[in-house]
Amino acid sequence: SKELGRNKFRFYNSEMSERTRQEMRLEERLHHALAKGALNLHYQPKINLASGCLEGLEALLRWHDDELGQVSPAEVIPLAERLGLIETLGTQVLEMVCAQLQKWQHLARVPVAVNLSVLQLQSEHFLRVLDHCLSRYQIAPELIELEITESFFIPERAEAMLAMLEAIRSRGIRLSIDDFGTGYSSLAYLRKLPINALKLDRSFVQNLPGSQGEVEISLAVLGMARGLGLEVIAEGVETAAQAEFLAKHHCQQAQGFYFSRPLPADAVPRWLEINAP
Ligand code: C2E
Ligand code: CA
Ligand code: CA
Ligand code: CA
Repeated sequence: SKELGRNKFRFYNSEMSERTRQEMRLEERLHHALAKGALNLHYQPKINLASGCLEGLEALLRWHDDELGQVSPAEVIPLAERLGLIETLGTQVLEMVCAQLQKWQHLARVPVAVNLSVLQLQSEHFLRVLDHCLSRYQIAPELIELEITESFFIPERAEAMLAMLEAIRSRGIRLSIDDFGTGYSSLAYLRKLPINALKLDRSFVQNLPGSQGEVEISLAVLGMARGLGLEVIAEGVETAAQAEFLAKHHCQQAQGFYFSRPLPADAVPRWLEINAP
């Protein structure tokens, strides 16, 4: 009836404004966190599957807010992108990683991977920010790896993006494609990219080795990567069976709860001392 329709409309409306209120609160708290430098990073070990040694770390954003509690990066990053705060956030992440690498310098040196938003790569300031961070903390470029997703393969921007990736690689910084297999990157294009590694997405890894479809996809990615001279890093490895399957098929690196959860910075030196090659 008409009455019902109106109620439905009113309900929808109040739900919308509730969502807006929440988002505004989140926005206000995020501004506050960025101003205070209250964001934090955890580091997840990357393990060489042949040797079992720690070969790298991935920096993952953590935000604990006094009012909101723990807020997931899966929520924070898209919000920061919508609000135009992603460059500020991304710069703080790079700064934190470089400052941390400087503190770990006397320990075994393994590269730390930083996740990038495609918006950061499109910014004309990005290279300057990157160079500034490296020189301020005197970090060898080889100790930084940048993870980008396939969402940057926008055909109209191909030239500019390729130039950006080449500028990054020419500095000696490593590049990998995150969540590989979930986007729409064309294979012909992949061949032209100056990248070092593909990260096999967790959605494939989690169904190994039992599921025929995921087995075939994983083997295809591994075979193609080998042909192109790229390494493969499997993400989200949770079981011994997954690790064994990947090792048997010459996947170079893996990360996941089976090896270690992302760790607070002060838990990393133990890994560097015991585990690094
Ligand atoms: P991602 O780059 O694909 O990172 C892997 C995510 O999987 C992380 O979630 C990690 O904690 C989780 N993970 C690792 N091993 C396992 C496992 O064995 N099983 C399961 N179920 N999960 C595992 P997290 O930390 O919540 O990050 C979510 C996403 O947020 C990241 O996905 C990345 O896209 C984004 N992100 C995180 N930090 C940053 C950052 O500093 N900058 C940008 N731009 N994005 C970030
Ligand atoms: Ca990543
Ligand atoms: Ca990933
Ligand atoms: Ca993922």
